[in-house]
Amino acid sequence: ATVLGIESSCDETAAALVTSDRRILAQAIASQDEEHAPFGGVVPEIAARAHAERLTPLIARVLGEAKLSLDDCDAIAATAGPGLIGGVMVGLVTAKALAMATGKPLLAINHLEGHALSPRLADATLTYPYVLLLVSGGHCQILRVDAPGRYKRLATTIDDALGEAFDKSAKLLGLGYPGGPAMERLAAQGDPRAVPLPRPLFGSAEPHFSFAGLKSAVMRARDSGQYEAADIAASFQQAAVDCIIDRTTRALAGMPGEPVTALVVAGGVAANGSIRAALEQLAASHGLRFVAPPLALCTDNAAMIAWAGLERIAICSPPDPLDIAARPRWPLDPDAAPARGAGV
Ligand code: ATP
Ligand code: MG
Ligand code: FE
Repeated sequence: ATVLGIESSCDETAAALVTSDRRILAQAIASQDEEHAPFGGVVPEIAARAHAERLTPLIARVLGEAKLSLDDCDAIAATAGPGLIGGVMVGLVTAKALAMATGKPLLAINHLEGHALSPRLADATLTYPYVLLLVSGGHCQILRVDAPGRYKRLATTIDDALGEAFDKSAKLLGLGYPGGPAMERLAAQGDPRAVPLPRPLFGSAEPHFSFAGLKSAVMRARDSGQYEAADIAASFQQAAVDCIIDRTTRALAGMPGEPVTALVVAGGVAANGSIRAALEQLAASHGLRFVAPPLALCTDNAAMIAWAGLERIAICSPPDPLDIAARPRWPLDPDAAPARGAGV
């Protein structure tokens, strides 16, 4: 099967054509970094407007590149949440219009499921169940992935997401937006032991995360005037790695159910080399495979949305009605109890 994927939940407008044998026939991403950079973060109204201007030409471009028409697609998959609602609606309404005009089925995809299943697009040998560290701009969770649509959340953040902590710390250091890649580059020039920073929730019984205190400590270190920015960045990244490894170790120790086949990382922060390297070691020490998607599939893209649609087709999950609503919040595991002091 071939699926057209559409992504518009944050500040990447994207379209892609992907096949069930894992070929990305064409993909295009228009990033809005330049539009949002002056504001140091994503401005929802600017984002929605940019998605509306760019999405239709992007869809035309990928169809042209693949030399396909919508009639050659078996379904149209679009992110239906969670995310900035204006942008999500642009993508979902576009997908609905295309589905209505062509009679093709509509697949309303959870953006987090796109991230969660993206490692399987890149690696055909990755099988269920696996344990997933989902680290992105809005989320920091450990999930057991049993099948498309079947997730058990083992941990979440009680305050900031890890990508958010990277972005806010980068902003404090004057690195601009988006901050994650800039922090990683600066960290490479610093000493990870130079600045004493906290490791929130390190060693606590539940495998949850917390990053707000780390970000505040970055601010105090900066304000003290005692440290080089590169040393703060390196120490921040080391603290993040230490927290991730401690919390994931804890989650692996308490893993319910049938043994997992792999430790998997996905989401924008999965592009970070230090985090990938540390997780690879952790997986090896547990006798688990380690799988991480290529960098381009970590940050937001439409290939992962098309792939999530293909995963649904593979398990014969029915398409969605054309009146399905966009959802600003949409947890992968709706049964998960709220973590102390936090919502989703
Ligand atoms: P969500 O998926 O939770 O809705 P999002 O879609 O905004 O949030 P992603 O696009 O998956 O998030 O990830 C973007 C985040 O990843 C940003 O916070 C960005 O700073 C971070 N990021 C990207 N590359 C790196 C990197 N090399 N190191 C650390 N963080 C990174
Ligand atoms: Mg982005
Ligand atoms: Fe994302």
